[in-house]
This record gives sequence, C-alpha cells and structure tokens, in this order.
Amino acid sequence: MIPRIGLTGVTRAVSGVDRTGVNAAYVRSVIQAGGVPLILSPLLDEQHHANLLDLLDGLVFTGGEDVDPAHYGATPHPRLGDVDPVRDRFELGLYRASRIRGLPVLAICRGIQLVNVALGGTLWQDLPSERPGALTHLQPTGRDQRTHPVEITAGSRLARALAASRLEVNSFHHQAIRTLGPGLVVTATAPDGEIEGVESQDPEPWLLAVQWHPEEFHREGSAPERGLFGALVQKAGEYAPSHRGPSGAGGEQPTAGTPPGTEPARSGR
Ligand code: MN
Repeated sequence: MIPRIGLTGVTRAVSGVDRTGVNAAYVRSVIQAGGVPLILSPLLDEQHHANLLDLLDGLVFTGGEDVDPAHYGATPHPRLGDVDPVRDRFELGLYRASRIRGLPVLAICRGIQLVNVALGGTLWQDLPSERPGALTHLQPTGRDQRTHPVEITAGSRLARALAASRLEVNSFHHQAIRTLGPGLVVTATAPDGEIEGVESQDPEPWLLAVQWHPEEFHREGSAPERGLFGALVQKAGEYAPSHRGPSGAGGEQPTAGTPPGTEPARSGR
C-alpha cells in the first residue's frame, strides 16, 4: 500500500483572499519519496483529528509562524513574530493524538519547535536579541542556498537518513529549541551550539525533526535531504498495515514488497 502522508497547512491571505494550504516544496518532496501527500488545513478542529489520523500513515509538521510562548509558560518577547492560535491548537492536538497511535513524524523548522513544545520543552523566542553572537539563522539568500553547517551525531536516525555526519544547510528561523522536551535527544547542532536536529529517544513512535528546510532541495537530485522524506515514507509504509489492516483497507490493492517510488527516494544515500 502506498503511504499517505499528511502535511500540516497554513492559513494566509494571498492576493487579498484567505487561503489554506502548504508550500509546494513539501508536496513535491513527498511525491518524490513515493508517498501520497494529503494537505491538512489547520481550520479543522479537534473533533476531526481522529478522522484525519484514520486516513494517514505518516505526518509532516511544516514551517511557518512562531509558536505562542503561552504554550511553554513564557511571556511574549518584544521580537516574537506572528503567531496563529488556530494553527497552534490544531498542530499541538494533532501531534499528541498521533503519538498515541504511533504515527511516524517528520518535523521541519516550526515543526521541530512545535514538537519540542508539545513534549514540554521551551524555545528561544528571538535568537538575534536573546543569543547575540550566534550565527545568522535567518538567511537573506534563496530558499535552496546552503548557508551554515550542522554537525550530526554519528549513529543517530538522522545520520542514517541523511547518510552524512556534517552538512551545509539552509536556515530560515529566528527561534530555536532552548530546553529540550523530555524523550528527545539532540542529533544535530550548528557551530554556535544551536539545536538543528532532534529525534525521539525511543524507536517508536518514530520521530525525526530538523530546524532547516529539507523540502527546498527537491530539485537537487543528490541532496542528502531526500533521505529524510525517504525514511518517513518507509516508516509510514511499515506503520500502514497496523491501522489499515494487512489488505490496506481504504480501497487500495495490497502490494507485495517495496512500495513503488521508495527506491529512487533513497538513492541520495
Ligand atoms: Mn539554522
């Protein structure tokens, strides 16, 4: 069965119209990895979470607004960016519900922060003012430009998925993890010590989280980041029969062996 991957969406006014969706780069990255992307609107409230999770084999928590510091017991810093209470509530609830089910999760940028907060961690609200001397983590250059290195812990899930121990990455964040949520381990750091990757201590529920934007490298054929989406889709494929049933309830025909598309996704290793 082909893994169905939920992508958490945003609500934004574009050309004067309120719209809800995700950056196409996330959708392209999941398709490339052999999954079926399903875009999840944060406008769906909690009563629909169970319904959504019934449809999904994996989840990507995507980038975007700052998490409201109220969720980690802090008062707003003067340089706190935009927050979206509706999206916060949607994603915090969905993440907690997904953990109970054991859904594999890839969390990106705001996603790593969201997951950390959901698990009881805290955030730096504005790196330039709270951590003077830190690297430039809000790069002025293009989305797919690599501007600072990260060191990746040998033997971690992240190192295996990327097949790398050091990597230049893109960086579009002014917030970062401050104290780590229980159950998480740091697997990547920038030279200034900022946390750039975490994962779950326990193998299940499977969690990989990065502070940079791996989806922006979907045009780069040999990007190590393809391994992140490949690993998620693979784990989602393993999880799928446990809740859909071995015959793939939901109308799909059962397939034998590796789902189509999984191999090309992992060719970047
Ligand atoms: Mn960074």
